[in-house]
Amino acid sequence: MKYIDEFRDSAAAAALVRRIGDVAAGLDTVRLMEVCGTHTMSIARFGLRSLFPPNVLLTSGPGCPVCVSPHGFVDATIAYARRPGTIVATFGDMMRVPGSSSSLEREQSGGADVRIVFSTMEALRFAEDEPDRDVVFLGIGFETTAPTIAAAVVEAQRRGVDNFAVLCGHKTMPHAMAALASDPEILIDGYICPPHVSAVIGSDAYRFLADDYKTPCCVTGFEPLDILQGILWLLEMLDDGKPQVRNQYSRVVTPEGNPEALRMLQRVFSPCDDEWRGIGTIPLSGLAVSSDFSRFDALLRWPVEVEPTRVPKGCICGAILKGIASPADCRLFGNTCTPDHPVGACMVSSEGACAAAYKYG
Ligand code: SF4
Repeated sequence: MKYIDEFRDSAAAAALVRRIGDVAAGLDTVRLMEVCGTHTMSIARFGLRSLFPPNVLLTSGPGCPVCVSPHGFVDATIAYARRPGTIVATFGDMMRVPGSSSSLEREQSGGADVRIVFSTMEALRFAEDEPDRDVVFLGIGFETTAPTIAAAVVEAQRRGVDNFAVLCGHKTMPHAMAALASDPEILIDGYICPPHVSAVIGSDAYRFLADDYKTPCCVTGFEPLDILQGILWLLEMLDDGKPQVRNQYSRVVTPEGNPEALRMLQRVFSPCDDEWRGIGTIPLSGLAVSSDFSRFDALLRWPVEVEPTRVPKGCICGAILKGIASPADCRLFGNTCTPDHPVGACMVSSEGACAAAYKYG
């Protein structure tokens, strides 16, 4: 709380807010979208929306990797949890995401061997320690986490670990942003680009948004002052009528990204069409295990039957992820759906828009 008060009382924040107000005064209504779950949390935690004039609107996009994983993927994770002789290894956020009839947490309490890990290498160790079991690692996340999963696959091959495979749900951000930018229902004037993802893919990866869609972009750090500065730069570009890609987070992000991480991605994964919750299938927006590593692809190696998908009634996660609704628009928000009893993925994840709105108001 003290940190939040210090930020809000700081001269630097006051100067940026004043400048944002000055530039916004010359603009019509401006809709800016952040596509990073950590930004979503930071914006809510520091109450940034309350600092802007009414014509500057901030909306959350598909920046939370757990939230954008479609129902069918969640059901597939549950099918693996029910598969005899299988260990499912996952990052913690997936545990409570409701599938059509269950969740990993519920399967675990019913006796399934579902283990939370903090790195893919832990999952690899399970496979080495228990060679009679099949270990399925749930590959969730954007370009930030995918290289570490790729590294684990390469390592599994090097060590000859034969009972380890990945259920691949990785997604890539630029194609999703292109899909949003070309959707006439979603009118976004500028993007606050995701810092972690940008550290891997580089700020140049968003150049098409400025060139082809005339939409300015700014890669912005996580601190509230970073976000304010990024928003100011977006407004200035809109005011000038000169959309570009600007990099406020140059202390971490370079124009070309991280070549080693990109090489690892390209070595293990191939781009594929992929389904995003609420948005639908976006061409080339996913990563599939490439043919050179197909023995580490869980779906090919150990096919499972997945139950027919049932979407929870009343949940508008899809519209929220597209930026055309906010959590408060959902009639389940805060009553039927809470962090203790989540109905949709956006309330489960620590980076979900509904969880952020519930926690910080
Ligand atoms: Fe879905 Fe719950 Fe968010 Fe409503 S409040 S959109 S039910 S996650």
